[in-house]
Amino acid sequence: MNSTVVTFPDGHVTGRSEIVGVVPVGARHGLVVAETPFHPLDHTWPDQPADLGTLGGLPVVDCVTGAWADQEGLRLGPDIPVRRGADGWEWLVVHVTETPLPVGETVDLVVDAGHRAALSAGHTACHLAALALNAALAGHWRKEAARDGLGHPDFDQAAITSSRITPDGSVDVYRLGKSLRKKGFPGDDLDLDRVAADANERLAAWVAAGAPVRIDVPGRWLTARRTWHCALPEGEVSIPCGGTHVARTSELGSVTVALSREDATLTMRTTVTR
Ligand SMILES: [Zn+2]
Repeated sequence: MNSTVVTFPDGHVTGRSEIVGVVPVGARHGLVVAETPFHPLDHTWPDQPADLGTLGGLPVVDCVTGAWADQEGLRLGPDIPVRRGADGWEWLVVHVTETPLPVGETVDLVVDAGHRAALSAGHTACHLAALALNAALAGHWRKEAARDGLGHPDFDQAAITSSRITPDGSVDVYRLGKSLRKKGFPGDDLDLDRVAADANERLAAWVAAGAPVRIDVPGRWLTARRTWHCALPEGEVSIPCGGTHVARTSELGSVTVALSREDATLTMRTTVTR
């Protein structure tokens, strides 16, 4: 099996392709096609959930990343022993169904467009929220730090431990502890209400600006190093990203964040109201 060609970075939700492999996924079946519009959950940074939909008319109940190498055979999701895109492996989109279909059959692939649109909105909002949070926290740094595309210290990159996209939202978890303190972010005098209000003001302006969003797609394979670009009024920003997005920030309607803290864990909940 060769690495799967993916069309979701260009916004596609339908396709037609040949089944090139069928593998067991527990008691279910993992169908691999040559080219798919389905976005699978990534195994290295599992932020955007799998697309739902149908393959050959069968419900796709899950969609996971697979990696295949001569000596190793096929590994799925968390069992993949190498990082995303590692050389020597073929990278596959594995569509999980309750019933198998034969290799060689050509099938229609149809992604649940409403679910995808909600995840795309959540994912774009997640990136914007990270940039807004970086800006709102900029005054709290005590040392020079790596900066984001808008020139603010990149709190998001320095502190994030997990990011989960949801339909029309996201939940990002940050670790404020000793190592961040050493990097120059003490984090003990944070007024979370003020920080959230500052971030929300920026988010409102960015949504109102209708800034264009695009994905740079350097290759057709699942693990090509794609980049999210957004032309904000302050300047164009880019973030490495394997997910899907809206085409303009105005499609988000409104984006707001809420911050909460428990000991050294800061949680940002982002909500889109389209
Ligand atoms: Zn992303």
